Amino acid sequence: MSVRDEAARLAGEIAELRHAIHREPEIGLDLPKTQDKVLRALDGLPLEISTGRALSSVTAVLRGSAHSRRPGPVVLLRGDMDALPVTEETGLPYASTVPGVMHACGHDLHTAMLAGAARLLCARRAGLPGTVIFMFQPGEEGQAGARHMIREGVLEAAGERPVAAYALHVTSNRLPCGVFSTRPGPILAAADQITVTVHGRGGHASQPHLAADPIPAACEMVLALQTLVTRKFDVFDPVVITVGSFQAGNTDNVIPDRARFLATARSYSASSQARLADSVPRLITEIARAHGLTADAEYATEYPVTVNDAAEAEFALRTITETFGSERGVRGEFPIPGAEDFSFVLDEVPGAFVFLGAVPPGTDAATAPTNHSAVAAFDDAALAEGTALYAELALRRLAQG
Ligand SMILES: [Zn+2]
Ligand SMILES: [Zn+2]
Repeated sequence: MSVRDEAARLAGEIAELRHAIHREPEIGLDLPKTQDKVLRALDGLPLEISTGRALSSVTAVLRGSAHSRRPGPVVLLRGDMDALPVTEETGLPYASTVPGVMHACGHDLHTAMLAGAARLLCARRAGLPGTVIFMFQPGEEGQAGARHMIREGVLEAAGERPVAAYALHVTSNRLPCGVFSTRPGPILAAADQITVTVHGRGGHASQPHLAADPIPAACEMVLALQTLVTRKFDVFDPVVITVGSFQAGNTDNVIPDRARFLATARSYSASSQARLADSVPRLITEIARAHGLTADAEYATEYPVTVNDAAEAEFALRTITETFGSERGVRGEFPIPGAEDFSFVLDEVPGAFVFLGAVPPGTDAATAPTNHSAVAAFDDAALAEGTALYAELALRRLAQG
């Protein structure tokens, strides 16, 4: 039986696990109920299982018995498990029962598909030419769970480092159901946060010369950041800076002591990210100084650029088209402006991040609600396909040696 047929045979139990996780979503690094469901799904399989210390991760190692004398190459498959602080409005029969928490990014599908792939590959253990690490990861939505798992040794879980690492991500729009997409090079942006406080000296609004007004200087900084983007960065290596919060004073006739703003910065190369981290604080503090003020400018690098290894992305595309047909694999023209902590894994191990369309039937992919929306819907039909791709990627990559 082909891997696809086997995945289709498991579709019912994969969907059941997905619905159970979807009903009881959890946020952040501590997901005890989700972890418990994963452990129960893996129970009885020939896996070496360990759980995280600082987070409720699950790492499962499957050693093929085909080459029992040598461990063989190692491949890592990752699925993230956390939900978002969103109130679900889909009206689905398995909708969230936890107020204010929803699997709005489809990580419930990733967890269930990875558990399905573990079951499928365990059944093929006798012919498995190497070792597979299954990485069930909490805290993708802002808590850098992947970095925590790397610190706790997920990349060394099999005794030697993986030769390749793969992650799947479902999308509730953009790609028709069952269509995969990836690209060599950058596939998702780096996301950083800029926090600025401009320190002035408050006073009467009619006599600004006796005070030190932080507001005009802060406004100048907001505009100068846009100029920085267009004058200091290559148009073919784009950078986005958006000031999303600006706060100063609370009435018309008082000059406040300080002004504060928050911005997000997105970039698509490590060199641009490094240049932003260096040039943004300098621009802010020098503008403050020019006005006789001081400013604190904190540039916090959050997630690096997610960069697919060129050969691994081509391998993933080949695997997709050979397994599902050429119409099911799309070479992404541009990266997506979101960010992902699988970037920390791809900084250590060559690999590929692959999108999978999960748009429900009857919905137009072009206008469907995006991931993170309260009405984002992901169709169960994607589950068997994602499970099959996880398994095919591992089997084919291990066979390459
Ligand atoms: Zn998300
Ligand atoms: Zn996500």
